[in-house]
Amino acid sequence: MADIELRNLTKRFGDLVAVDSVDLDVEAGEVMCLLGPSGCGKTTTLRMIGGLEWATEGDIFISGKRVNDLKPAQRDIAMVFQFYALYPSLTVAENLAFPLHAEKVGEEEIEKRVARIANILELSHAMGRIPGRLSEGEKQRVAVGRAIIRNPTCFLFDEPLSRLDIALRQEMRGQIKMLLSDLNKASVIVTHDQIEALTIGDRIAVMRDGLIEQVASPHEIFASPGNIFVAGFIGTPQMNLIAGRNLKPGDGDSLGLSLCNQDIVLPLTSDIAAGAAGKSEVTVGIRPRGFDLASESAADTLSGKVDLIEPMGAETLVHLTTDAEELRVVTDHRAAPAFGAAVHIRPRAGQIHLFDENGLRIGA
Ligand code: ATP
Repeated sequence: MADIELRNLTKRFGDLVAVDSVDLDVEAGEVMCLLGPSGCGKTTTLRMIGGLEWATEGDIFISGKRVNDLKPAQRDIAMVFQFYALYPSLTVAENLAFPLHAEKVGEEEIEKRVARIANILELSHAMGRIPGRLSEGEKQRVAVGRAIIRNPTCFLFDEPLSRLDIALRQEMRGQIKMLLSDLNKASVIVTHDQIEALTIGDRIAVMRDGLIEQVASPHEIFASPGNIFVAGFIGTPQMNLIAGRNLKPGDGDSLGLSLCNQDIVLPLTSDIAAGAAGKSEVTVGIRPRGFDLASESAADTLSGKVDLIEPMGAETLVHLTTDAEELRVVTDHRAAPAFGAAVHIRPRAGQIHLFDENGLRIGA
């Protein structure tokens, strides 16, 4: 039994279906990130788990108990929001202790737990300060500490790092990941930041228009996106998604087809080749880092002309125009071609994804 179970969970606001028949399990000790574009229903899903929004249909179970009709305080959860509300006149120690006083925990136990949390979150130096005298990162850590001090069954985080600057976000990502793995509770984190989801999540649920498009580990979401939406949404720079026409199976697992109005032979894995058998059209997905530069045109290369160069530090993002679609290719900055140059690129074996006419992944 998972610690959090959502079954057919649906939320309608008038005619708008904000969350559409969502099924999701979050195990004890697991960190589940809800990831998706703005308005896809992440926050509404989280708010329904937390009891801040009633479900229109479906069931929410926490530790096996149906909680749909319970108030937030009765659900044994802790929530951390983007806009952390600390009590401005209370010190860090008092802010941390507040939920325990409310639960009538004994003074000695409160002192012990506050000290432990302060230690874990590196707040011991600031225990006597009020929030107005804390940095943003320290405030955020107090908010997290106040949520986890109660030892609930599960944690819900809504964009917990979105107010922090980039450097602090990076630092806090690591801290939150370590903290959650120590706590060993079911956690749900809403984020629109894919790096956050890929680094913190044990699994990621990618949402679009109220629906869950794929639930899988960060590696699987990245390496085997289940459909075109997930393929295009995860990964920067964005995956090239190219219309493939006139498919002709080649020798072994290779596939001949027309891409960008050019004939090419692609090396496929055997499961993808088997799945493509009998199809005449597919969408081919190749990440910008999934090509090698070739010195000349060949049966397994595509050609294009450089029309934009974007330096990214050690790497360079090169945009190529072809007769049809534009292609994005990432190269080592030392190997980046010049603006206007004719370039040949070879899709790398193992880096080629195919999607069928319904946008679904072909092969494993
Ligand atoms: P964001 O990343 O922008 O916060 P989200 O994925 O969390 O987006 P939700 O906030 O869950 O999305 O909203 C899902 C949809 O439901 C949106 O179209 C939103 O406008 C709508 N919505 C959310 N709350 C309400 C409400 N109280 N009344 C009416 N519509 C709402």
